[in-house]
Amino acid sequence: MPLFACPTCEKLISKRAHNCPQCGEPDPFNYYSRKSWIERLVWTVVIVAIVVFSWQVLFPMLMEAVG
Ligand SMILES: [Zn+2]
Repeated sequence: MPLFACPTCEKLISKRAHNCPQCGEPDPFNYYSRKSWIERLVWTVVIVAIVVFSWQVLFPMLMEAVG
């Protein structure tokens, strides 16, 4: 089993450790962080969709007001 240094206490622990047995650091190798990565991707898509939608609606209105 490969061992990696804990980012907090730098003791060698298992890469699969859900928390550090030495210092108790929770999730030292982001074992549970993949969910939040997907969450961030979803939020990015939502924000881009809002920006594109408002651009599609606001830009023609602006052009109409100018022209
Ligand atoms: Zn540690």
